[in-house]
Amino acid sequence: MSSIVLFGPPGAGKGTQAARITQTTGLPQVSTGDMLRAAVKNGTKTGIEAKKYMDAGKLVPDSIIIDLIKDRVQDPDAVKGLMFDGFPRTIPQAEALSNIIEVTHVIAINVPDERIVERICGRYSCGSCGIVYHDTFNPTKQDGVCDECGSTDMKRRADDNEDTVLQRLSAYHEQTSPLADWYDGLGILRNVNGDKAIDEITKDILIALN
Ligand code: AMP
Repeated sequence: MSSIVLFGPPGAGKGTQAARITQTTGLPQVSTGDMLRAAVKNGTKTGIEAKKYMDAGKLVPDSIIIDLIKDRVQDPDAVKGLMFDGFPRTIPQAEALSNIIEVTHVIAINVPDERIVERICGRYSCGSCGIVYHDTFNPTKQDGVCDECGSTDMKRRADDNEDTVLQRLSAYHEQTSPLADWYDGLGILRNVNGDKAIDEITKDILIALN
């Protein structure tokens, strides 16, 4: 069983790359951001609590996130391992994960801060299949129509605005970026330049995984 962590600032392209890498590795993609947004949409107790933090661009408390992951690893498809996208985001989350599942590769997708705001503020996704697009860097071929599934249900995230992005970026630097050293100390961190064409980044990640 091998599990992968995709690590990087908000807007680094973790979700986009995870959706591609999952096709090669067969490991299911686990995005705590997607799980939380589903909980918010369904109005669950977790969703109501998490929404306060998400709207403010702050990290949701570790206990909530760790409970979500403990439940997720019980699903039958987790037996071969999982690909985590946006988790762990703090040292306590990484410590908890190490007691739950073995992480064999951590891929850090590096993008400079000055590129993050333009990346996040232009992004949208298909409400049906979840593929992520960008107004400038990766638009749909036909305006408003998903290339993958043909849906016209395009969505923008409530927290993808300039104010929240700056808060999310500062949470990343203060609470999440120390994880790079933590995983490097375990000898499983691989760095990838995320400021390139999407296909090239995918190639680099696949090389780093081998
Ligand atoms: P994401 O979709 O990964 O950008 O996450 C969106 C928001 O969900 C973040 O800004 C946090 O508020 C929250 N979130 C997602 N994953 C985590 C996590 N592992 N730890 C804490 N908060 C998280």
